[in-house]
Order: sequence, then structure tokens, then C-alpha cells
Amino acid sequence: MKHLQTAVIGTGYVGLVSGACFAEFGVNVTCADIDEEKIRQLEQGQIPFYEPGLSEKVRANVAQGRLSFTTDVAAAIHDALVVFIAVGTPANRDGTPNLDAIEAVARQIGRNLSDYKVIVTKSTVPPRTGERVRSIIEAEAEEGAEFDVVSNPEFLREGSAIEDFMRPDRIVIGAESERAVDIMKELYRPLYLVETPFIITDVATAEMIKYTSNAFLATKISFINEIANVCERIGADVHQVARAMGLDGRISPKFLHPGPGFGGSCFPKDVSALVLAAEAVDYDFKIGKAVLEVNSRQRQLMVDKIAAAAGGVDGKEIAFFGLAFKPNTDDMRDSPTIDIIKKLQEAGARIRAYDPAAMENARKIFDDVEYCSDAYEVAVGAEVLVVATEWNEFRNLDLEQVRDSMRSPIVVDLRNIYDPKKMHELGFTYDCIGRPQAGRGSEAAAG
Ligand code: NAD
Repeated sequence: MKHLQTAVIGTGYVGLVSGACFAEFGVNVTCADIDEEKIRQLEQGQIPFYEPGLSEKVRANVAQGRLSFTTDVAAAIHDALVVFIAVGTPANRDGTPNLDAIEAVARQIGRNLSDYKVIVTKSTVPPRTGERVRSIIEAEAEEGAEFDVVSNPEFLREGSAIEDFMRPDRIVIGAESERAVDIMKELYRPLYLVETPFIITDVATAEMIKYTSNAFLATKISFINEIANVCERIGADVHQVARAMGLDGRISPKFLHPGPGFGGSCFPKDVSALVLAAEAVDYDFKIGKAVLEVNSRQRQLMVDKIAAAAGGVDGKEIAFFGLAFKPNTDDMRDSPTIDIIKKLQEAGARIRAYDPAAMENARKIFDDVEYCSDAYEVAVGAEVLVVATEWNEFRNLDLEQVRDSMRSPIVVDLRNIYDPKKMHELGFTYDCIGRPQAGRGSEAAAG
């Protein structure tokens, strides 16, 4: 598929995974980034972030000559038929997405539009960004230059990104011409052949599909967190509530796990962006606002829960199992632990932490956190242990060893990975989210 020469601009989680997977489909891909250090690492076969299975995919496709890396963004654009924009769109202070990188790439595309190209926005962008990309390219390009703008939002999840890309629930293509649609279908041919549903629509609708999907998933999380908080006060078990609810085919069991609230680089910024995009067209998106408000309150409730379990946190040594916003990633962007740890520190707590992958990124965020080399070490001398990320390695620990090494055996499990009954039998004072005996301590649980 040499004729489909593809450039992916922005070699982060989305760009690198997409580039490696398109190469796996047989397409020639050049991944370009302005971050010289990132490209240098990739050229040496190192993956600049943690993502299971990615390094094997990258290595194999580089070896077969289908995948290459460059800092020469202009050349990558010049040589390509299809140019994916996969740069970051982080939130500005006011919650609007920062489109500076998108616009910079669009300008560069305009200046390098040698012949017809399909310009595909893979980054998550607000509705109508495609129009903006088109007008920037038109302003920069020579008159009569031919191109189409496409929106092809990405739904992969960090931690299972390869599998998500290779076996997606659907491919969304928002395009303005048949020619562009045909090229996109050709690019995704291996998925087309295995009957992956393709949604072919206009650009603004495709952009809206991505925001709406993320906002709905975030809504499910905030919803179940509120139900967990109610269950906890009533003495009901949120897990059974969620399971029974989820068996209703109209609801589905996914995204009904209570916890410290959603985080990461997507949900918080995408819900905020949708609320503001609605506001810009004079619509008050009340559910979106409530989802964000519930999420931020959930983080505070977790701080309160830890403080209640510890009997106050001033001067206390608090250990954290996990820091990343979810397991199998090193991504610390908007992790709930950032708010939780900073608030505990403000209240005088001393924090120790262990995360299997995210400590390097965490060091750039926290002051005065003591990092440990494994789960047993972090527990030593702790007065409270907080389970913040549900990495599998925390599920099967020798909990007696953990208990014996702690100064006081108090566990606050923000991911409900342990069995309350077993924890009580082991002599822990155990609190979790939305399950009976949560918040009552070991004596109450014993009764
Ligand atoms: P990232 O921050 O990991 O990567 C972005 C990359 O773009 C960086 O390597 C950066 O150096 C590069 N870049 C910035 N400006 C550039 C420029 N002018 N030219 C070339 N490269 C440039 O971001 P990410 O997590 O991969 O997210 C990218 C987009 O995809 C965002 O819009 C995000 O919302 C969306 N998205 C992310 C995920 C996810 O799980 N991370 C999932 C779906 C969609």
C-alpha cells in the first residue's frame, strides 16, 4: 500500500500507536514530532512512555521498513498522501481546549501542500475545528492547492491502546468528499474486511461523536460514584447494584466501577470542552456541568475519607499504592491522586508512594513525596495505606506482611480491590467505597 504514504504528526500516545498500527496494516508511515528527544529515543528503539505491547509493534514495523521517525515535519507532510494530526489539545485555564499545536500543524501543512492530500484530525477537537483547519491551510497554501479535511477521532484507551486500535468498536470518518472517504477506507481496509462498523458522516458530526462518547462515559463514572456514596450511607453494596444494573442490556456493565473520580488526559478536558462548546452556541449543558462538579467533589470526599480513617492527617505518614489515573499507564495527567495528595500534604500529612510505572512522571508534579521501590516497602511504617490505582500487582500481595510492617493497619481502598470481610479478619481497619462496613472501622464491621 505504498500509494497510501502516511504521515502522523505528533508522536504521543495516540500518534505513535496509530502510526505503528497503520504500519502493521501494511501502510508506509512516517511519525513526525517537534520533540527531538522523543524522536531520538524512538530512533534508538526506545518507547518514550509506557504502553503494553507497543515496543514490539514499533520494533517489528521499523525492521520491516514501514515505520520511520523524523523531526522534519515539513518533509513528512510533503511526501504523504494522508496526513494525520495527532498533537495534544490540552485544556486552557478556562477549560477550553488549546488548539495552538493543531493550528501550527495546519499552517505547516498549508506550506507543504505539493499535491492532493487528505488532512485527518485524529486529535480530539471541538466541533467546527475542521473548518478552522481548512481555512488555515487555504490561507497558507498556494492558490488552487487540492486537499480534503477529515475528522477521524480516536477511541483507544491507554493501557490497552494496541488492542483498541486493532479491534475498535467502530471507525468514525467525517469527510467532505467521496475521494477522501475512499482513501480512508483503503487505509483502514484490514478493519473494513473484518466488518468493523464504519460511521461515515460530515466533519462536525464526527467531532461531536468523540466529545459525546467521552462525556457519556464520564457521566457513567460520576453517576456510579454518586450511587456509591448513597449506598455507603444506606448500607447497600454498590458492586451488586452496579452488576445487576449492568445486566440490563440497555445499560451495560462497563464504566460502573466506583472510585476516586475520573482523571487522565481526556475525560476532564473533553467534558469541560463540550460544556464550553455548548455555551458558545447559547446552550447550558447542565448534565456536563454536574458530571464535572461530582467528579471534583469525589476527590474531596476521598480526602475526607482518608482523614476520617486516620483520625486526622496532620503529621501522619500516609502510603499510596498507585499514582496513575488508572493501571497499565504511566500517565499522570489529571490523575485524582494529584488533588488528593496535595490536599493531604496541605493538611500536614507526609506521603510515601509506589506506582509500577508512573513515578517518573509523578516526580515532576509532587514536592516532598518519598518514592519506594515496591508495594511492601511503601507500607513500612505507614499509619494509613491508600489504594489509589488498581494495578494487578496490588491484588495478590501478602497482606499479613503489609499489616505487620505498618505502624497502624488502616487501609483506605479507593478502588475496592480487597474483600472487606477478609481485610477485617486480617485485622485491618478497612474503608472502601460504597460497600457495607465501609467507613465504620473494624469494630463496627465485626458486629
Ligand atoms: P501527547 O501529549 O502524548 O502527544 C502529543 C505529541 O504532539 C507530543 O509528542 C508533542 O511533542 C507533539 N507536538 C506538539 N506540537 C507539535 C507540532 N507542532 N508538530 C509536531 N508535533 C507536535 O498527546 P496524546 O495523549 O497522544 O493525545 C493527542 C490527542 O489525541 C489529544 O487531542 C487527545 O485528546 C486525543 N486522544 C488521546 C487519547 C489518550 O488516551 N491519550 C485517546 C484518544 C484521543
